[in-house]
Amino acid sequence: MNAAPSILQSPIEYLKGVGPLRADLLKKELGIFTFGDLLEHFPYRHLDKTKVDAIASINYQQDFVQVKGRLIDMEVIGANRGKRLVAHLKDATGVLELVWFQGINWVEKRLVIGSDYLVFGKPTFFMSKPQITHPEIDVLTPDNAEGKNVLEPIYPTTEKLKAKGLNGRTIGKLTAALLPQVHEKDIPEILPDAVVQKLQLPHRYKAYLQVHFPPDAGSYEAALNRLKFEELFLAQLRMAMIKSNRHRFSKGIVFDKVGALFNTFYNEHLPFELTGAQKRVLKEIRVDTARGHQMNRLLQGDVGSGKTMVALLTMLLAADNGYQSCLMAPTEILAQQHYNSISKLLQKMEVKVGLLTGSTPKKEREVLLKELSEGTMPIIIGTHALIEDKVQFKQLGLSIIDEQHRFGVAQRAELKLKGALQPHILVMTATPIPRTMAMTAYGDLDYSVMDELPPGRKPITTVHRYEQARPAVMDFVKQEIAKGRQAYFIYPLIEESSKLDFENLMKGYEEVKAFFPEPQYYISMVHGKQKPEVKETNMMRFKTGDTQIMVSTTVIEVGVDVPNASVMVIESAQRFGLSQLHQLRGRVGRGSEQSFCILLTGKQLTQDGRERLKIMTATNDGFLISEKDLELRGPGDIEGTRQSGMLDFKLASIVKDKPLLEAASYICRELLERDPDLSSAENLRLKNYLQLKKGKTEWSKVA
Ligand code: ADP
Ligand code: MG
Repeated sequence: MNAAPSILQSPIEYLKGVGPLRADLLKKELGIFTFGDLLEHFPYRHLDKTKVDAIASINYQQDFVQVKGRLIDMEVIGANRGKRLVAHLKDATGVLELVWFQGINWVEKRLVIGSDYLVFGKPTFFMSKPQITHPEIDVLTPDNAEGKNVLEPIYPTTEKLKAKGLNGRTIGKLTAALLPQVHEKDIPEILPDAVVQKLQLPHRYKAYLQVHFPPDAGSYEAALNRLKFEELFLAQLRMAMIKSNRHRFSKGIVFDKVGALFNTFYNEHLPFELTGAQKRVLKEIRVDTARGHQMNRLLQGDVGSGKTMVALLTMLLAADNGYQSCLMAPTEILAQQHYNSISKLLQKMEVKVGLLTGSTPKKEREVLLKELSEGTMPIIIGTHALIEDKVQFKQLGLSIIDEQHRFGVAQRAELKLKGALQPHILVMTATPIPRTMAMTAYGDLDYSVMDELPPGRKPITTVHRYEQARPAVMDFVKQEIAKGRQAYFIYPLIEESSKLDFENLMKGYEEVKAFFPEPQYYISMVHGKQKPEVKETNMMRFKTGDTQIMVSTTVIEVGVDVPNASVMVIESAQRFGLSQLHQLRGRVGRGSEQSFCILLTGKQLTQDGRERLKIMTATNDGFLISEKDLELRGPGDIEGTRQSGMLDFKLASIVKDKPLLEAASYICRELLERDPDLSSAENLRLKNYLQLKKGKTEWSKVA
């Protein structure tokens, strides 16, 4: 494609009405460098000038009205700063007051009492009579007798731009100057004809024009819909192509046999029957690792769904095929925990398992490194110490990352280790990701879901209690402890640096201590400001049952497994996000006992806070909770996706445009199934566009 440079690439200062000063501001404030950027600066709403309102019908809810009527009087009143021009416009239904504080002489000269006018503006009420200050006013002509008949676009802008005369409405004047210069050849259709027809989308060119200046509300909807679809569709197509290229062209390690280790463990040492979900996911992994391409899979399983077992069986599969595996956890505690449970599961088998963390003693470390490089240790568990340079594997075939959202993207990239063949990657996360989000942000990964808990789990009972009920809550905890259980008290420490939060934690600790005095009770405390050793010791004491109570911040959020803990009290629960509450709650309900989660708050709650508590007491379903979280907070705030940049849509919203997203996803799949390289004649323009865009983004990074 060597088309002549498009008008859309013209620098914005060349547009009539812009000039160097405004151009500078448009660039700095809104990132508008070119005509094309302005075209993609979309209005967020339109003022409806398509209908004429009766004066009697004007009400508080309207933010703009258009009326026509006769000017019946006009008078300058007041003096100095209070000086104003007041006029009255009458239609068949009532009288509307018009007021000007500025430009009085000019307005007065132009208006004629007894003439008919078309008036537009924001109504306010004074003594329950409607008035408009500084209305737009035009002489009524046969052309505008039914109103101006336009939907006037209103654009996002900034204070600095407003100061230079570019407010939400005047930016529309620039767009209006631009559009006549843009022609169909500048905005050619890129979607395949079949898709355009099937979804009855307006042509791309028309959509761009009408999203700014629609002739009517229906056209606007159609234009907006088309552009949103395009956004969602292209994003998914890009991701799907990355995935499909990996499936087709990457060379990967082949795990093609299920051997002695896997079978012996499965048949003789498995402590329980696998859940249906665990079986299904294992099958997905087996198929994926046997094809000769690299696996890059995200495994989502709600807290307690049994991901560790899936990890272990996958590592045995790797070992059966002569490859080593590593399992990485985000903290030492978690690594240790995995090591303990996996060693125990494997104790009757001849498989060497190692643990490597930052605190592994030097001597032990050297032995481990040697065994890894010689290939005599098939399974190693650890923290990020595993991706340090010194760790050399003889034959690494599989990397598993647990609780992925604690790992940065950078670390994930580092895992793609040196060597000719990339090891398979399995990322496990217990933070359920809403489906719509997974489709967009993780569309390049394969994706497995474990949506089933092992049988026999008693659902956690969650209640919301106000501060006044604290003594009763404490008594309840006492009863549980008397039964031999353990309890968590969780305090918000949203920012580790917040002094106030820290004081609250300490106060809380003292309070809990007053209710649960030594030597009858012992308490562990864990927070982010402690040295790692102190944290570990406290954790360990709770784990082994030396302490019955754990007072903690959210540092215990992820993965900690103390099945004997049956109560969690969450202080100031309204301050936590939904997903976080769900993660925290997942620390109880891990044993066979009925568990409880008590959300404590004061009386004063925001509506959102109240809604979150309501959801938490209503369901234990992590996927449902994640959907609600997305609805309440919007995609930008969901943990772990901020860096992905994949959710920055200009028009579409993965929350509000779910049906469009699903349609886009369906069509994308269908298209790639038929034409995976987009090489057919009708898909070629799509392919060209994707390549062009790719070039463009890289260019804009340089610029
Ligand atoms: P998570 O998915 O949160 O990492 P874990 O792997 O820690 O969950 O498993 C939680 C608990 O459930 C563990 O104690 C584990 O032994 C147990 N578990 C796992 N799978 C099953 C199963 N199929 N049947 C019974 N218990 C299981
Ligand atoms: Mg886990």
